[in-house]
Amino acid sequence: MGWNTLDDMELGAKRVLVRVDVNVPVENGVVTDDTRIRRIVPTIHDILASGGRPILLAHFGRPKGKHVPEMSLRPLVPALEAAFGVPVLFCADCRGPAAEAAVATLKDGQVLLLENTRFHAGETANDPGLAAEMAALGDIYCNDAFSAAHRAHASTEGLARLLPACAGRLMQGELSALETALGNPQRPLVAVVGGAKVSSKLELLGNLVEKVDTLVIGGGMANTFLAAQGIDVGKSLCEHDMTDTARTIIAKAQGTGCHILLPGDVVVARDFKAGAANETVGADACPADAMILDAGPETVARIVTALESAKTLIWNGPLGAFEIPPFDRATNAAASKAAELTKAGQLVSVAGGGDTVAALNQAGAAQAFTYISTAGGAFLEWMEGKTLPGVAALGG
Ligand code: ADP
Ligand code: MG
Repeated sequence: MGWNTLDDMELGAKRVLVRVDVNVPVENGVVTDDTRIRRIVPTIHDILASGGRPILLAHFGRPKGKHVPEMSLRPLVPALEAAFGVPVLFCADCRGPAAEAAVATLKDGQVLLLENTRFHAGETANDPGLAAEMAALGDIYCNDAFSAAHRAHASTEGLARLLPACAGRLMQGELSALETALGNPQRPLVAVVGGAKVSSKLELLGNLVEKVDTLVIGGGMANTFLAAQGIDVGKSLCEHDMTDTARTIIAKAQGTGCHILLPGDVVVARDFKAGAANETVGADACPADAMILDAGPETVARIVTALESAKTLIWNGPLGAFEIPPFDRATNAAASKAAELTKAGQLVSVAGGGDTVAALNQAGAAQAFTYISTAGGAFLEWMEGKTLPGVAALGG
């Protein structure tokens, strides 16, 4: 892999600028879910254990270059202290004289949290001046915010180019999981792509047909592919203006030898609500007044067969309207199978996407997956085959 990790850096007595994602929910000044904070603990502990002094840089919300008191990082200090088990100092600016003074007073065994980087317009503009001011505060740069790596901002990109740079533990875990799943995977490689729309996942589908052996297309976007084959999908969610695009993707897959697996049977209903009366019909037999809300059992059996012969799975997007049972069945069944095969050591399984993570949690399968990415936009851009600026700046 082309990027440094903390193991490659000489950290003793060094000021280490650590870019983290601590966009946690805060209610009345109290952190209500510290998941994101807990995920950066290994990085902070490893830096402290090597005698380094962690100085945290982070954005919070979208203050648009202005000082917005409600978007201050200060209320996070108690939650950070609880998670790290060491004192966390705070400075109300991420640059300039105040930050320099705070860094100068920082002692071994302490952590310094700097104020929201997005209080400066230069952050999202990737202003070289702001990056230089931040670089003056440290000796080493460590990026542990994969979820912000798709943005070329001063604290994620510009700064990384000014100091010796490395990936933090969370970033390292994410990058190696993604590399294992799509960069250099064990084959056969199966991708499951579902969700609502083709239009939001066009580039992703285009990239995957070049890389995967089998592409399972499910969810609402499968309806567009069915319509592209001249099938009447009734009242189903369907982007009729995207059928040409769907045909292009199918043609591209034929060229690359990627096998596309579309639903052969589907679960249809007249109402989009939990417990709605439903029936299973052939994919070409959706009644004119009904909509396709899930893949049927025969399709699930074909997905299961594909998973059983696969060595690697990459998954984004639920196979049906999983929020409203019983239209969560195909997603649950495929998720359970992937979990079982992963536990048996037969499959490397990587998944990401906001609704996908929710669906896999709901299916009770997330724990067993090899890696679950919570990075959202960065994960999707990576699945699209894009170079993430924050990763590229680490030399990867
Ligand atoms: P992610 O957030 O994991 O990237 P998406 O946002 O693309 O996933 O898709 C998730 C949404 O797709 C869910 O809200 C789900 O209800 C919807 N969906 C899946 N299948 C269907 C379908 N057949 N009809 C309507 N909506 C669907
Ligand atoms: Mg979503």
